[in-house]
Amino acid sequence: MTVVMKFGGTSVADPDAINRLIGIVRQQQTRNGSAPAVVVSALAGVTDKLVAVARLAEDGEVDKASAELHALLDRHVRVASAITSDSRAATLAHVGREFEELIGLVHALAVLREVSPRSLDAVLAVGEIVSSRIVAAALADHRVAAEWVDARKVLTTDAEHNAAAPNIVETDDRVRERVAPIVAGGTVPVLGGFIGAAANGATTTLGRGGSDYSAAIFGASLEVDEIQIWTDVDGMLTADPRIVPQPHVVPQMSFAEASELAYFGAKVLHPSTILPAVAKNIPVRILNSRRPDNPGTLITADGRPPGSELTAIACKRDVTVIDITSTRMLMAHGFLRRLFEVFERFKTPVDVVTTSEVSVSVTVDDTRRLEAILDNLRNFAEVGCETEMAIICAVGENLRLDAALFSRAVTALERIPLRLVSQAASRRNITFVLRSSDVPHAMMRLHETFF
Ligand code: ADP
Ligand code: ASP
Ligand code: MG
Repeated sequence: MTVVMKFGGTSVADPDAINRLIGIVRQQQTRNGSAPAVVVSALAGVTDKLVAVARLAEDGEVDKASAELHALLDRHVRVASAITSDSRAATLAHVGREFEELIGLVHALAVLREVSPRSLDAVLAVGEIVSSRIVAAALADHRVAAEWVDARKVLTTDAEHNAAAPNIVETDDRVRERVAPIVAGGTVPVLGGFIGAAANGATTTLGRGGSDYSAAIFGASLEVDEIQIWTDVDGMLTADPRIVPQPHVVPQMSFAEASELAYFGAKVLHPSTILPAVAKNIPVRILNSRRPDNPGTLITADGRPPGSELTAIACKRDVTVIDITSTRMLMAHGFLRRLFEVFERFKTPVDVVTTSEVSVSVTVDDTRRLEAILDNLRNFAEVGCETEMAIICAVGENLRLDAALFSRAVTALERIPLRLVSQAASRRNITFVLRSSDVPHAMMRLHETFF
């Protein structure tokens, strides 16, 4: 059995976490008799810090940015020194060089007071470059044959900086050339997640949380038997543990269910992770790196009809609702096309849509181009807009089979003002749009009712 193993930030946060990672990789290799490919995130919190550094540069705060970067460098030096032995000097040299370049880049950005999406990618990528260097060295020093592979030379993307899309054909070729032979030779390739490069060589990133996606892309190219996402919870839970205390682990679910949950806020999986897995029908397993013997959550094409009525609930905050009321007749032909063309033109995805005879309501969570969208819609409709809303999404294959589940969900929320309610044709989910401030209460009510 061949696998890709992705370790998130908390699973590489410090020397103890990296030690656990080494044990997990070694056990996997012994059990399977073949080398896994390993994909790692930046050390916990590092990407957030790098985002903050970029903001400081934008504000021209050279000294503060530089202080943050030196603190980050110190942290990496401490971790690398503690976890490596034979390759310590070489690893520290790599880390030092990356930070030296980064400090130079940030200094230049701070002088210009301008951080373009392309520069931001160059800054953020350093987190994954140095973490993957450290993990590759640590594995090798602990007698697990491992080789660092520069993910930017493998994962080829378009040039949509900060949210790049992979070029699968090109990436497949590069994986075959640069990664597959390492695995075939019994050595563990270690790659940074989240990062890639556009055709012109510029560093790109796949969007926050994108290491899961990288792992799935590499896994699909390598045609592995399983894509493993190692994180800090026991699997996909019935609800976000930061909102609902003590949710349960869902042992199995379908690709479709996992996609919906990831899309609607289950942070444990980047929303695009499932796509490459579906394309090659590769199971995805979510596992806890602190409790490696737990079975985790297995995500497959069929899933397993869950014992419980719903599979899980997820929520997404900071959503904006836009109400578009036709000044003429809503269903006049061409109206919906015109309406959605506006969102398309401004590259803004719409999540939930509901209609009445005279109006259409949609939700968006990317508000970067909101003003332009509203202006354009006003050319042919009356437009209203409400911020600080949220989406709650209840997911389960059983929703298709048992019509009563829908009404029980609505009843569970009876005292909470619901702005929109929708159930799409797949009938695998119900989405509720409500005020952000009502989310905790609503999530608890649904969780109590169904789990
Ligand atoms: P990593 O750094 O390993 O990628 P993330 O922080 O991105 O980890 O994702 C794991 C976190 O996702 C968990 O700690 C948990 O707080 C959050 N989370 C939100 N919804 C869910 C859910 N339904 N199941 C599991 N975890 C969830
Ligand atoms: N380090 C990146 C982030 O924090 C990617 C990831 O962890 O998946 O967004
Ligand atoms: Mg993540």
